[in-house]
Amino acid sequence: MVARATDMKNGNRAGIGMTSARTRERLVQRLRDQGISNPAVLDQIRNVPRHLFVDEALATRAYEDTALPIGQGQTISQPYVVARMTEAVLENASPRKVLEIGTGCGYQTAVLSPLVGFIYSVERINVLLDRARARFRELRIQNVHVRHGDGFQGWPTHAPYDAILMAAAPLAIPRALFDQLAPGGRLIAPVGPEGRQQLVRVTKRGEELHTESLGLVSFVPLLQGLG
Ligand code: SAH
Repeated sequence: MVARATDMKNGNRAGIGMTSARTRERLVQRLRDQGISNPAVLDQIRNVPRHLFVDEALATRAYEDTALPIGQGQTISQPYVVARMTEAVLENASPRKVLEIGTGCGYQTAVLSPLVGFIYSVERINVLLDRARARFRELRIQNVHVRHGDGFQGWPTHAPYDAILMAAAPLAIPRALFDQLAPGGRLIAPVGPEGRQQLVRVTKRGEELHTESLGLVSFVPLLQGLG
């Protein structure tokens, strides 16, 4: 099959074998087998064109369940992890305002965007942010606001957030982020040294924090300052 010009213009470069419905369906089935069960999340994995978030040379691998390089020493998260984190954000909750730390290529943001009210996403590397912004425009994603900044500080202007999602791992969760979490809000983050982190969900109940462990993951580290 050949991609039609109109598809290209609409940012829907489907039709080329590697991005075919069947390839995407195989990924969805794999995530289902691994325990992802929220239908809205699985639909997003099926519908968001992950091949548009990676370099063209890597597009053939876009629907494999692996992290891939996106430049600047960073990676697009593995689809399973994106699905797991999105599920953890949505479980028994419908967050209106979400803070994301680490926009990267914007894939996690795109998967989550129609399932919540607004996403405020902070990225420390400007080149990545510019590319992510262009993709959001191309895909007509309008409820995402991005900012070049240091995620250790969060984004106080729009606080409090119903959910905070971290795409890079700190050794311990920064205090500023807890402070920007709404009462009853939840923060989902990989915590620990490089390549050996626990994915946790921390729920704020009054001054108490309730922590659940969601398994082992491997994320790039949360770095101080701007890139
Ligand atoms: N979910 C993203 C993952 C990107 S990797 C995706 O699907 O592409 C993690 C991102 O966190 C990187 O882009 C990195 O630059 C960013 N990051 C690391 N430390 C940060 C900080 N202190 N503030 C903001 N972003 C940060």
